[in-house]
Amino acid sequence: MEQKRPTILIVDDEKNNIDVLVNLLSGKYRIVIAKSGEQALKRLNQIDNDIDLILLDVLMPEMDGYEVCRRIKKNIDTNGIPVIFITALSETENETTGFEAGAVDYITKPFSPPVVVARVRTHLELKLYRDTCEAMAWEDGLTGIPNRRKFEEFFGFQWNATGRRRAPLSLILMDVDFFKRYNDNYGHGAGDECLKSVACALKSAMPRTSDIVARYGGEEFVCVLPDTDSAGGLKVAHRLLDAVRNLQIPHEFSDAAKHVTMSMGVSTVAPPVKVSASVLIETADKALYEAKAMGRNQVKFLALNNPI
Ligand code: GH3
Ligand code: MG
Ligand code: MG
Repeated sequence: MEQKRPTILIVDDEKNNIDVLVNLLSGKYRIVIAKSGEQALKRLNQIDNDIDLILLDVLMPEMDGYEVCRRIKKNIDTNGIPVIFITALSETENETTGFEAGAVDYITKPFSPPVVVARVRTHLELKLYRDTCEAMAWEDGLTGIPNRRKFEEFFGFQWNATGRRRAPLSLILMDVDFFKRYNDNYGHGAGDECLKSVACALKSAMPRTSDIVARYGGEEFVCVLPDTDSAGGLKVAHRLLDAVRNLQIPHEFSDAAKHVTMSMGVSTVAPPVKVSASVLIETADKALYEAKAMGRNQVKFLALNNPI
């Protein structure tokens, strides 16, 4: 994967300081500049926030660096970004205040170039390493799509969110047909490749960014569709079924078709919701079981028992 250049936000009201830091760092990093705390917070609140590290001056008119740092750390979208304070040597007695506000380090003025470069490099490396670990914790290692843990989190969140705004929520459980025979006959490596292709096809067939498809376990996948009623859920399931069929991965040992196919169970919850989230999963699972029993390579819908 291509590595993008890390982005550093420099927040300082003095042009001289900014110039020195830009000279030192712009060769290796993308630099974004803010001349006040307010400007910095505004930049950080942009939706596609891409800042990896913040160099923050302590003494600024209006809002000082400590306050800016506290606000950055209070915001769930920005609190993972490391903040290094820039301070004059004479101000270092306030270091505790800075660390309490959430800073990871200090750089003192006048700048010592090797110290600035080394501290920035170290904290960027740590940040990028943390980002990678964080991403891996939510991703399935084989297929690269969200894993079961991500599904649980996303589903729990969407269950509450759609319930609050009185919107429907659909769930699709999917399972590859006769996959044991596929493994037994073509080998486990081919089985893995097949699962990767299936995951990729499922993902490509779901263009809405509010939906996710995750690996539920083994050869089972799950799809969460917020704001989607039963008709919509069925439509997506058929599209997913076709997407996997269209891969035309040969499977001579399947009784369902000559190529790899899936069975899918769909269910939908619509407000007012009187059941717990697990009931939707259980119902979709029953629907999947029926799709298997009816010959596989098909979609089955089951209505949720939601007593009013
Ligand atoms: P059905 O049509 O009823 O779903 O039959 P099936 O053979 O697909 O179902 P079963 O649950 O009996 O077998 C699932 C198989 O999936 C067992 C296992 O060998 C395979 N499998 C599960 N996870 C992986 C994986 O990560 N890689 C590979 N290669 N195979 C896997
Ligand atoms: Mg299975
Ligand atoms: Mg199976």
